[in-house]
Amino acid sequence: MIEAVGLTKRYGERTAVDQLSFTVRPGQVTGFLGPNGAGKSTTMRMILGLDTPTGGRVTIDGKPFRQLDNPMREVGALLDAKAIHGGRSAHHHLLCLAQTNNLPKRRVDEVLDLVGLAEVARKRAKGFSLGMGQRLGIAAALLGDPKILMFDEPVNGLDPEGILWIRNLMKSLAAEGRTVFVSSHLMSEMENTADHLLVIGRGRMIADCTVQEFIDQNSELAVRVRTPDPTRMAELVTGAGGRAVTDGEGALLVSELTMDRIGDLAFDNGVRLHELSLLQASLEQAFMELTRDTVEYHAAVPGGREVSS
Ligand code: ADP
Repeated sequence: MIEAVGLTKRYGERTAVDQLSFTVRPGQVTGFLGPNGAGKSTTMRMILGLDTPTGGRVTIDGKPFRQLDNPMREVGALLDAKAIHGGRSAHHHLLCLAQTNNLPKRRVDEVLDLVGLAEVARKRAKGFSLGMGQRLGIAAALLGDPKILMFDEPVNGLDPEGILWIRNLMKSLAAEGRTVFVSSHLMSEMENTADHLLVIGRGRMIADCTVQEFIDQNSELAVRVRTPDPTRMAELVTGAGGRAVTDGEGALLVSELTMDRIGDLAFDNGVRLHELSLLQASLEQAFMELTRDTVEYHAAVPGGREVSS
């Protein structure tokens, strides 16, 4: 279990992490979401004792990281996958880590198998692809068979197969009862992986809830209605306390009324329907709405629309 209370980090004038309090629990994948620059890496570095908080505290099973007796057996982390010595083989890299951390040598082959690098284990890591580098970083994180795992943007730059592999790995680690804490700046990466979400913007907590709660609270349901008589249908919807707007393609988007109610209204009033379907705003959209005011950099794109970096 990871527990933060009032965790704060300032770099000069800039507050990177602002009074964060949260708990990351075992047996589930907790997604740590926020736009670039929101403070995710800084928070993770403080959890691992690599950065000192300006205020507040963060503990791992009740102790600050630096007071853990056997850190690699308690916490494994993938922060920067490129931080390996390119001249070494994957096997040698892990062996050095095992030896300096008092871990059994047999774990090296076990984790190489687990991440699917057994066949290239003796090759120099310099020639590794990004995906192989990520797998090696994950192997290192798993070396001490820790109860707590942290991954900072683990799927950045991976191909779909690599992404799927990491997702499944995170889920299975959580299913074994471990604490899995994973950061991302994309909601879509968390939607199918995380059980719980911590959403931050500009260092502050925006949401601390389950994925289902996030969906329920942030994605408005709408019903798409196609009818030869949209004007009449819109009047009926408004009369019944709903809202109707056109979607630009001739259909109506109706909110605040259930699909059943809309169908009954049409039937009772003799309006012919050609479509009645449930739409849900994408979670990615909900996440962007929620964090829009907290995005640090806005890049102007042709056409004047703004996108976050
Ligand atoms: P994220 O991981 O969510 O992208 P970071 O934790 O990397 O965000 O950064 C949060 C903020 O802190 C950013 O504004 C970043 O520029 C700033 N920051 C991070 N590390 C340092 C540092 N060593 N010195 C100064 N500012 C930093």
